Formats: sequence, C-alpha cells, structure tokens
Amino acid sequence: APRNVVSVLAEAADARATVVLSGHVQPDADAIGSTLALAEGLRRRGARVLPTFPVPFVLPASLGWLPGAEALVPSSEVPSSPDVFVSLDAASVGRLGELAALLDDAGTAVVIDHHASNPGFGDVSLIDPAAPATVTLVAEVLDGLGVLVDQQIATCLYAGLAADTGSFRFGSTRPETHELAARLLSTGIDHAEISRRLFDTAPFGWLGLLSVVTGRAALEPGVGNGLVWTWSSVAEAAEHGLAGEQLEALVDVVRATEEADVACVLKGQDDGSWSVSLRSRGATDVSRVAMALGGGGHRAAAGYTSRLDREGTIAALRAELAAG
Ligand code: 5GP
Ligand code: MN
Ligand code: MN
Repeated sequence: APRNVVSVLAEAADARATVVLSGHVQPDADAIGSTLALAEGLRRRGARVLPTFPVPFVLPASLGWLPGAEALVPSSEVPSSPDVFVSLDAASVGRLGELAALLDDAGTAVVIDHHASNPGFGDVSLIDPAAPATVTLVAEVLDGLGVLVDQQIATCLYAGLAADTGSFRFGSTRPETHELAARLLSTGIDHAEISRRLFDTAPFGWLGLLSVVTGRAALEPGVGNGLVWTWSSVAEAAEHGLAGEQLEALVDVVRATEEADVACVLKGQDDGSWSVSLRSRGATDVSRVAMALGGGGHRAAAGYTSRLDREGTIAALRAELAAG
C-alpha cells in the first residue's frame, strides 16, 4: 500500500484520533467487510473508530452477522468533522450519500477502492482497478499498520473477497487472490459457513420470485453482443414476503445465459426509479455502459440508477449497447 495511506492512518492511530469509516450506499459484503476489518485494525492500534454507512441504515440479513456489525454507528451520530474519514469500496463521491460531506469536512479524507470507474477523490488514496475487491487493499493497509489478521478480521476480509470474486470464479482473481484466501483460511475461519450465509441463505419465497422474474426474461441477441434482461421491484419482492435486498442475487441467475454477453436486471425502487444491475461475460465493458448512463462499476459488473419508466430505461440501455 502507498506509504501515504498507511502513514496517515498510523499517525491517526498513534494520536488516538477520531476516524470515521464508511462504505458505499446499499453496502455489499466488500463494502461492509472492508469497513469492519479496517475499523477493527485501527481500533486495536489506538484510534477512536466510528464505522458507519450512508442512509438508509439497514444492513442486509446476509451481512448483519459479520463480527463488528453490531458496533456500526448510524451516520447521523458520527461527528461532522472527524480527524480522518475513510471511504471504502465507493466508486464515486455520490456513492457515499450524505457522508460525502465528510470528504471536505474531515481533517484528512482517505479513499480505498478498486472500481475502474473511480475518478479519484479524497486527499490520499489507494485506488487499484486490478484489485479484485477492496478487502485485498485493506489487507495490505492492515499489514502496513502492523495489525495481526486474526479470525475476526479474516472473517470480514474473506466475506468481501468471496463476494466480489464470485467465489474466485471471475477474471479478476489472480494468484495473489488465492494467496490471500489461503492466509485467511489459515486463521481458522469457517469459510463454508461464511459462504453459506452470504450466498445460500434465501427464504423459500425467493424461489417464487425467481420463477416470476426468470419467466419474464427476454433474450435480445441482436442488441450489442446479445442482451438478456428482466425486471422486478421492491414491491414485487414484498408480495413474496421478501425484503428488497433479495433482488440483488437475481442477476447471478440471469447472467448464466450463454447467448447473451450482457445480463441486466432492472430493480424498481419505491420512489419509482430503477436500480440497474449489469453483468458482462467478457466482450462488453459494462463499466463504460454504466458510466455513460450515470453510474459506474467494473468491466464485468456495473450499475446505475434510471429515472425513466421501464420501457424508457431498457430502450436507453439498448441504444448504449448498440452504440458499442
Ligand atoms: P450491483 O449490480 O451488484 O448493484 O453493482 C455492480 C457493480 O456496479 C458494483 O461494483 C457497484 O459498486 C457498481 N454500481 C452499482 N450501481 C452503481 C451506481 O449507481 N453508481 C456507481 N458509480 N456504481 C454502481
Ligand atoms: Mn461494493
Ligand atoms: Mn468491491
């Protein structure tokens, strides 16, 4: 890790400074795992840490069990000008929601991220698009700080690593990724239980939702390198007795479609907007597509928010994919 990120954090810890840490809105395992692991490391090094995330302050059930999650502080309770603010796994300022103000108001703003679309922000940063997950960068920072990675920290890091690499299936996985995984397993973490809680714990109602959502999926081989798409909504999830977070795993089923390079799930929000998830099998850079439509992400996984209606949203996506 660049000396400046480690040195800023080491100096903050030595000074018993106040450090606010946050991941992106609607945090996933990488955002929360990174935040909890670094918070715990800095706490042990002597800092006064306040891990949080932007409103709405609701963790998905698949992440609430992570060690340290119980100590997350609502963003309304963090100081408005802490000594240090650390942004983790946020591709852009906008992804920090109301906490974006801390980038200006904290003594020093530190950015740790791995999104290809990250434009670079904060006072000191560690942004590496080649990193398969933000947790791998946090592991480097913890090593730089001399923090021992024990089971508690390893559990948080492994959750982010397994989630963002698709359990080590995606192209972002490198030899060092497996080396880190091996190091984390050596601490004695229960990786099978972690994976079960992350990926294989859905209410029965999810099968009903899945059947409706896959039943209405459309294949459009002529759009770009092929598009498969479907839609659902927070309201439809509720009809199946499900929280909105259960919409997130739908794209992992849709993306298995061989004939389409790009998979898309439109997730209708209660405010009428569509949260759009894009996945690529390789030929299409969906990070570029998402950026053109106001979002961001990675080459193979990206997203954005659309305020058009459903037909308008998919028409805009078709046009962007056709433009190549
Ligand atoms: P997902 O489809 O799982 O919500 O997101 C896939 C990837 O795209 C993630 O890396 C996520 O950070 C990024 N992403 C999703 N939605 C947005 C968005 O609205 N803006 C930006 N900048 N990135 C997004
Ligand atoms: Mn993330
Ligand atoms: Mn990530």
